[in-house]
Amino acid sequence: MSQFNLILLGPPGAGKGTQAGRIVAEYGIPHISTGDILRSAVKNQTQMGLEAKKYMDAGELVPDSVVIGIVKDRLQEPDTAKGFLMDGFPRTIPQAQALDAGLDDLGRAVTKTLVLLADEELLVARLTGRRICRSCQAPFHVLFNLPKAEGVCDVCDGELYQRDDDTEATVRNRLEVYRNQTEPLIGYYDEAGVVARIDGTQAPEKTYEDIRMALGPAGA
Ligand code: AMP
Repeated sequence: MSQFNLILLGPPGAGKGTQAGRIVAEYGIPHISTGDILRSAVKNQTQMGLEAKKYMDAGELVPDSVVIGIVKDRLQEPDTAKGFLMDGFPRTIPQAQALDAGLDDLGRAVTKTLVLLADEELLVARLTGRRICRSCQAPFHVLFNLPKAEGVCDVCDGELYQRDDDTEATVRNRLEVYRNQTEPLIGYYDEAGVVARIDGTQAPEKTYEDIRMALGPAGA
């Protein structure tokens, strides 16, 4: 595989953020998270952020036109030349079609879609206990991955917080949105023959081993 044009797909809470950090470190590709880009727009109170916030707080999807625009702009950056890891994008069939068309214009294509799988009750437990560093976005968990000091990031001493959309009611809605709108993408990428299904219920180290097996060596 000469390029690593990768998509990380899976329900909220399947471990995409954690695995993304490992993948980009080893494969030397940029991490493109539409959720992170949108949260930063919300924090900076840009026009886009103000519009996106109402959808995000309700656990609904931000309109396709907004996120497609974000990703098209991001793919113009030179650091994507060797590849990229999309995390949280695409989430609908029109987004996947727009990504394919945009890559096709650049003479490129998705090389692998990693699908992290986990059952719903585990996802609810993982999401409602999740805490994130405000400064470096490192993920922690009140049950499964406690920081050394309560409320403080082990990596950078930043403050840990719970995302507004990690409350139980919103989490259940996000999972339903995933089932209805995003899960069909697995079939879409199956048709292109690029899907690797990964068991996301395992310890993060074991899940990452399976991802490496699916991707092959970084320098290949
Ligand atoms: P995430 O961090 O990927 O779970 O994204 C958080 C929220 O941002 C989602 O619940 C959506 O409201 C919004 N969002 C992120 N990525 C997308 C996308 N590709 N399409 C639509 N909405 C998105």
